[in-house]
Amino acid sequence: MKGYGDSLRGYGHATHVKYNFKCQYCGYDGRAFPNWFQLTVDHILPKGHGGANEDANKITVCHACNSITSRMEFDLRLTPDEIIELKRARVKDRQSEYFEFWREHVSPLYLKEWEVL
Ligand SMILES: [Zn+2]
Repeated sequence: MKGYGDSLRGYGHATHVKYNFKCQYCGYDGRAFPNWFQLTVDHILPKGHGGANEDANKITVCHACNSITSRMEFDLRLTPDEIIELKRARVKDRQSEYFEFWREHVSPLYLKEWEVL
């Protein structure tokens, strides 16, 4: 995409089109503007592990999932699909941990607001 060097408007756009603007780790729908703004490109096999900077190694993920999976280590014998499954499992585990915090510390704040209304 001429003139844009970032992942949303530039090199990542074709990847996001390929994956229908949907996070491949958590299912986040990135089609609407505020959500699209949270999309990133992940290298399935990280570049630090020797992953290629090629389309076949690129996948659309949301910012949160990219962050959650950013420091994972991988056996280089794994296939891309196996790596994706490991990353999805990490995201699912992390979401469960965050959900517990949200349920205990965030949702009660809204429940109080709703009781006042
Ligand atoms: Zn995600």
